[in-house]
Amino acid sequence: MMHYTGRFAPSPTGPLHTGSLVAAMASYLDARAHHGRWLLRIEDIDEPRTVSGAAETMCDTLAALGMHADGEVIWQSQRKARYEAAFNQLGENVYPCGCSRKEIADSHTGIASDGAAIYPGTCRHGIAEGKTTRAWRLRVPPTMSAAGVITFEDRWLGRITEALSESTGDFVLKRADGFWAYQLAVVVDDAEQGVTDVVRGADLLGSTARQIYLQGLLRLPTPRYMHVPVVNNAAGEKLSKQTGATPLNLDRPLETLMGAAMSLGLVLPATAGTDLTSFWEAAISDWARRFV
Ligand code: GLU
Repeated sequence: MMHYTGRFAPSPTGPLHTGSLVAAMASYLDARAHHGRWLLRIEDIDEPRTVSGAAETMCDTLAALGMHADGEVIWQSQRKARYEAAFNQLGENVYPCGCSRKEIADSHTGIASDGAAIYPGTCRHGIAEGKTTRAWRLRVPPTMSAAGVITFEDRWLGRITEALSESTGDFVLKRADGFWAYQLAVVVDDAEQGVTDVVRGADLLGSTARQIYLQGLLRLPTPRYMHVPVVNNAAGEKLSKQTGATPLNLDRPLETLMGAAMSLGLVLPATAGTDLTSFWEAAISDWARRFV
């Protein structure tokens, strides 16, 4: 087997919170339980949403909690030439699209897993007259074709199947504001960093089939995937800045870590609460018992 490489890839839109800590912890535990490497990648490709200083704060928080990344930290904002090169390799698979968000919503094709409207394919055979290019989209295959249904074994959730033509339609790789889409950047980076295992929150489950499809077109290897449960607030919403997630309590790092471990279902001895070293030893060994 290839040497295990995992990663945590936060978008620096604010400080690490309970939800993102659980994703960080799961990817870290899986890497350490496999005696593998754990990389940190700052996904600041969505520059309009990036908050200056947030990435540095996140790195400090992870270190304060005892999670230390291997190798250098990479920043997506510095890697645009690579995303462009991958985009150029896609040739006829991509096409310019002149539709506005409203036009797509008005076509009532349904809502994709990420909350965006499913693209009805309006510009597939050429941009409509009088319109100018806004975004660039990737053509997805019809459900009935050989590549039409993507299947993968999720290490937490089991077998997942998704037909892209029904779940998202042709999806955006280059956005109307000129930035590269997360889907493209993540695929390029996971491959270049030799990531063998993606462990992340289940809120990203709906992106995985798109990423696997792109990996195929770019002839890149597909890592193994594990989507861990996301932490919800009392109203059942995913915890994020928008839903009122409070920043982590770093005055009591062990309590913070024990809370995150609990939401991953870890069973830890009382001694895990004594200090960071004991916590991580116990957590890694429980994770290894369950997942390695
Ligand atoms: N940057 C993404 C996020 O914070 C995660 C990307 C990934 O793990 O693939 O939601």
